Amino acid sequence: MNYVKKSVADAPLKGKKVLLRCDFNVPLKNGVIGDDTRIRAALETIRFILKEGGAVIACSHLGRPKGQVVPEMSLKPVAARLGELLEMPVAMAPDCVGAETEAMAKALRPGQVLLLENLRFHKEEEKNDPAFAKALASLADIYVSDAFGTVHRAHASTAGVADHLPAYCGFLIERELKALGGAVENPVRPLVAVLGGAKVADKLAVIDHLLDKADTLLIGGGMSYTFAKAKGGSIGNSLLDEEKIEYVQKMMDKAKAKGVKLLLPVDTLIATAVSADAETKFVTAGQIPDGWEGVDIGPETRKLFAAEIEKAGTVIWNGPMGVFEQPKFAEGTMAVAKAMAACKGTTVIGGGDSVSAVQKAGLADKMSHISTGGGASLEFLEGKELPGIACLPDA
Ligand code: AMP
Repeated sequence: MNYVKKSVADAPLKGKKVLLRCDFNVPLKNGVIGDDTRIRAALETIRFILKEGGAVIACSHLGRPKGQVVPEMSLKPVAARLGELLEMPVAMAPDCVGAETEAMAKALRPGQVLLLENLRFHKEEEKNDPAFAKALASLADIYVSDAFGTVHRAHASTAGVADHLPAYCGFLIERELKALGGAVENPVRPLVAVLGGAKVADKLAVIDHLLDKADTLLIGGGMSYTFAKAKGGSIGNSLLDEEKIEYVQKMMDKAKAKGVKLLLPVDTLIATAVSADAETKFVTAGQIPDGWEGVDIGPETRKLFAAEIEKAGTVIWNGPMGVFEQPKFAEGTMAVAKAMAACKGTTVIGGGDSVSAVQKAGLADKMSHISTGGGASLEFLEGKELPGIACLPDA
């Protein structure tokens, strides 16, 4: 997959109406926005388009209205907040298609912003219905995609519209592609990938793909116990995906065949239950007694993993090393976060729970890049073609 796409920076914007797909899927309760990070994240691209003499027709989904008009999922509060942040009026369309919206789009002048109503009020959006995509596209002259969190979805606003308009990526997507694409396809070596999280099944394709790319793979978290089991260890009540034992064995064989250093935990923090008042102790990996379960990597593993991370040219991290939501079981995950902060190479957090872990550790500003797309970045790391990226022309 080519990850260098035509950028909004090179688009002819003067006098043009730009359909801008944003990620305004903000937490909303009783019409109050709980966190406006995603709205702020869109400002750079919006301001650029306005400054270059274009008009912005912004669109987004919010929540899961499933093709129905759900007033609690209206984007109206987003229009208000966007207007405050831009310090200018932002017009709100009654819908994202239809005569009234078309008239508002038509009347839009350079330097003005219009926000369309929730795309997912129409079931055609998620079905990538061609007529719906065409109707959306008909509002504008140019399409700019800047919602990285939805590029793994082939929806009308994330993929279909690119069939009808000259398409470009916005600055958010451009940065994501540069960071994730650069880390996987053209890394400063050694490339160290750190994978954790609960379910091995969710990460199989990532492990497989990264074994083709990385020099070193560090595996912790709940999914490491399926590896320990495959190696003949005892794992007590730890997370296990029985059906994936064979696959995991194949991955260990693949690592050997390719000369990739695949490191598994050498010791484990175990607990009698996943609760703050449970009894805990450290044991050698693969020697977990019955009635106990693995909840974090042990101190020797933390040192081992940190040493690999600190000497890396590039590190990609996805998934916590233990049940990090409980401070008692978070030390392994924090050790990885600290090692990444100490690494002089490029450090990329590939979305999901690792993002909240580095934020909790107060180390977010020490990372080269923190991906904003959970599902999207995971699919990127699987080497999958993302419909919302594939539809954009290469630079
Ligand atoms: P994922 O969404 O697959 O990245 O998984 C994240 C979740 O994995 C977090 O909620 C962690 O609490 C959980 N997790 C990590 N390690 C373990 C473990 N050893 N046992 C149970 N859950 C774990």
